[in-house]
This record gives sequence, C-alpha cells and structure tokens, in this order.
Amino acid sequence: MMKLNGLGVSPGIGIGRALVVTRGMHHLRFRVPERRVAAEIERLAAAREQSRVQIRHIKERIAATVGDEHAYLFDAQLLMLDDPMLVDRAATIVREERLNAESALQRALDEVSALFDRMDDPYLRERKGDVADVVGRLSVNLTSGGDPLELFRDVEGPIVLVADELSPSLIAQLDFQRLAGFVTDAGSWTYHTAILARSIHVPAVAGLRNASGAIPPGALVAVDGSSGEVLVDPPPDVVADLEARSRKRRAYERSLDEYGTLPAVTADGTPIRIEANVELPEEAARARQRGAEGIGLYRSEFILAGARAAGLDEEAQYLVYRRLLEAMQGGRVTVRTFDVSESQLGVAPPGEPLRAPLGLRGLRLSLSFDEVFQAQLRALLRAAAHGPLRIMFPFVTGVEELRAARAAVTQAADALRGRGVAVPHVPIGIMIEVPSAALTIDLLAAEADFVSIGTNDLIQYTLAVDRTDDRVSRMYEPLHPAILRVLRQVAKGAGRRGVPVSVCGEMAADPVLLPLLTGLGLREFSMTPASIPVAKQVVRGIRLSDTVRLASRALKAATAADVEKVLAESMATVKR
Ligand code: PEP
Ligand code: MG
Repeated sequence: MMKLNGLGVSPGIGIGRALVVTRGMHHLRFRVPERRVAAEIERLAAAREQSRVQIRHIKERIAATVGDEHAYLFDAQLLMLDDPMLVDRAATIVREERLNAESALQRALDEVSALFDRMDDPYLRERKGDVADVVGRLSVNLTSGGDPLELFRDVEGPIVLVADELSPSLIAQLDFQRLAGFVTDAGSWTYHTAILARSIHVPAVAGLRNASGAIPPGALVAVDGSSGEVLVDPPPDVVADLEARSRKRRAYERSLDEYGTLPAVTADGTPIRIEANVELPEEAARARQRGAEGIGLYRSEFILAGARAAGLDEEAQYLVYRRLLEAMQGGRVTVRTFDVSESQLGVAPPGEPLRAPLGLRGLRLSLSFDEVFQAQLRALLRAAAHGPLRIMFPFVTGVEELRAARAAVTQAADALRGRGVAVPHVPIGIMIEVPSAALTIDLLAAEADFVSIGTNDLIQYTLAVDRTDDRVSRMYEPLHPAILRVLRQVAKGAGRRGVPVSVCGEMAADPVLLPLLTGLGLREFSMTPASIPVAKQVVRGIRLSDTVRLASRALKAATAADVEKVLAESMATVKR
C-alpha cells in the first residue's frame, strides 16, 4: 500500500479505481473492461496505419526538397512502427493488463527508453528521441480517433480521477454518480475544482505534487478528503475500516439535516441570512432542501463549461436563470455575470493560459465584449419576470466600472422594451474581491444596491498569495489581521449606507469562523449547500453580544496564529 498526503479540499471518503488524466484531456490512463480490449488493440492498429501514411508523406517531401540523404531518418521511423517492442508490445500490455491504448503505448515507450539508456553507444542512445517522436505521433493519432469522454463512459465502477490539474469544465461534463473522488497534483481549498467538488459531494485531495505520476491507472485508490490522505491499493481490512468511517460520517451529516429546516436566528434574536453558492443549476433544489433561503452566488460561467459558444446564447441562458428561480420557489437568486478569462470565454487566441487572473477577466472582460455582455444581461432581465433575481458583477475595481456596468444594464433593458418585453426592477450589486474595491467601499456602496465579499480572491490579492498554488497555501491566511480589518471596513462602509453586505467566499462556509464574522458586523452568508445545516446550528447557538467582543479581541491580535488562539479560547465561553 502506498500512502500520499495532500490538502483535504472536499470532505468525505471515496474509494474507486484510478483514472489518470494529465495535460487537460490529452493523456488519459485507465484500465479498460474486458469487452473493450479488442477495440483498444484495433485503435492501436489504426493509429499505426495513420502514422505510416503520414511518415511516408514527410519522407517524400524531405526527399523532394532537401534530398534523399536526409530522408533515411524517416525510414528508421517507419521501421520503428513495426518493431515488436513498440505497437505490438503495447497491444500485449492492453491484452494482459487491460490498460487503455494510450497508457500501454506510453509504457512500451518507457521500456524501450530504459533499454536505450543502458546502451554505451551515444549514437544509439540518441535514437531514443526518434522513438519518442514516433510514439508522440501515434498518441496524437490515437486521441484524434474519438471523444475521450466516450472512453470515460466505458470505464467500469466508481472512478477516482487522478490528475495533474482538473478543470471545472472537464468535471462539469462527467457523470457525477460515477465519481468516487478527485486527487490532484496542483490546487488548494479555494481552487475552483475544489469548490465544485464540495458542491457535488465528491471527496477531494489537492496539492499532492506528483500523484498523477505515482498512482498507476486502474489501481484501487481511497481518498480521504477530510484528512488529505490518499491510499493506493489499500488491503481489504483498511478498505472495510474506511467504509465504516464513511458510513458514520454520512449518518452524522444526516443528523444535522434537521438544522437546515430551522430558521437561522442567533440565540439573542438576530436573524442571519444563509444562502447557497451554486455552480450547476441541478444543485439548486438540493440547496433549498438543505435550508438555503436563496442563492447568494450563482457562478454563471459554469454555463460555459463544456458548452462554450452555445452557452453564450441569450435563450439558453434565460432558461438556466429561470430554472434557478423556479427551483428556489420564491427564494432570492443572485446571479454573478461571467467571471472568466478570455480563453474560457472562447475569445482568446489558442495557447492562452486557462486563467489569466489579472488580465482581461470578470467585469472588465464583459465590458470589452459588448455582444456577450448584452446577451447575458437580456437573459437575466427576462428571467427576472419569474422571481426575485439580482445581478452581481465580479472583479469590480472601482466606481467607473460599476457605472459602465449599470449603463450596460440600461441598454439591455431598453433593447428588451424595444422588443415589447416588460422589464422588472432588478437590484444591481458587486463582488468585493479586489483590495481597491474594499478600500472604496463607501463610494461603491453609494451606487450599488448590494455588495458581496468574495473572500477567496480578496485574501489572495490582499496577501499577495496565489489561491491555487499549493506551495504557498500555508500563507493563504483567512485570519490574517489585514483580512479581519478589511472585512470590518467593508461591513461598516456598506452598513453606513444601508447597503446589504454578504460574504460568499469560502470563509463563510467555515463554522469556526462564522461567530467571528457576525462579530465583525456581517449578517448574510452564502456557502456550499452541504455547509448550511452546520452553519445554522452555529448561528442558533451564538449571542451577538459575545461575538462582538470576540471580534474586538481578534482585531487586536498581531498575527493569524494569535487570532486563532482568540478563537480557540472563545470556543469554551461562546456557546456554540
Ligand atoms: C471569491 O472570490 O471569493 C468568490 C466567491 O468567487 P470565486 O471563488 O468564483 O473567484
Ligand atoms: Mg472571485
């Protein structure tokens, strides 16, 4: 048994067979069912034939342009295609170990490379590059043969996705019922994939550095998303023990469900609003069951996951927003306009990194793509006829952006009225997730109908710590004195203007931090649905008079560790 330790980012225990995904969907490694073996070998043969045709073409071109003497290299490549140690060896691996064609080919390459490494002759050693070149071509031809998601559907049993990085859009396309867990080399608690894992209840461990290299495809993997432990090929008694713990945990969660139905009112009588963060419309019903009064953050960019251009369509979006409102049955729904980078919107030249955090993203991206923005705003304003909808803009840095966004809403409303559509009043709010917005909260609150603090980004930009980089995750401190001050300032600044302020970052979902947040003056929280029952339990046990004192002590602490001490001491005295 191999044991790996990372950051538990989505609680619970999941056990399944490893499906290894690296470089997006480019490298998929898993064990195929018996009935697929012949088809996998067939795919290898087809890739070999396609590669043969391509290499012959290249050889002819080189012979015609540079001369025959340079074309011989490709003769060697053609011979390699038929070498029993390569494609044929891969076919044997598929047959014997039931690995998918891509991983079998990679294994064959590793074996050949090891042989080359042992050779004394430097000329021969260098031929390793040629073999890798041929295998690269074979792999491309293998993958271009079909949609990798088709393959996923064919893998048997519960799956643990083991990846270097997992994009939320990849996960959004999969059948969640089949997923037992996620294990990633990169990532941390506020990584979007971790947030999504929590909302679809899939245990996850991130920041493992090299799990995708160390865990063999098809291995039995147990993921403990609470402790951050990942066990590879655990013996049956360990599996039985984990399963028992998992059942206990689920029973405990069910026992908390009753709190979901109770009102969130503090012991001294102040109502606290608890809403849900939702990434997928199908989660809205569950959010309501868990006791959410509304949806405090719908991350609309998830519509684009997998759908891309189709997700930009006004009608398609209208149906999603309407569905959310209907699922909440009169509960308020706050939709955040797309918070993506150019590449995620599909408007960037290929090759741009997945997330360009400080480039054209969020509201500034929407403001630069008028057509996209107008379609989204029209869809939202139309959906507002079906319930209490609010529009929220992400990544606002100052008043000018808010004004421009408001003007865009007016323009969309005018366009709809021109089409004979009645447009109801829709509150317009902003995320406070950039320090410049927090520092100008008085100015922004004067022009916004509501604000919501996105602590995930606010922490990373205030502390200059990348939220997705596991190497600095220890420095990502929600309890840093700077964060407490900024939260206090936003709560006060918005409060003075009578503008409602909520917290929708992951800090809101932490039951240990809730008393402190109420003491800092915050009264509205939006969190992943699974956290709602515990949050309500906490709220019902606190007295604001106590939490205000707690906050004032915490605000005097010099370090995050000191703040933690203050919180720990208060646990004994503040009734929770
Ligand atoms: C945040 O930044 O806190 C937030 C809620 O938005 P996201 O996690 O989507 O960046
Ligand atoms: Mg954010």
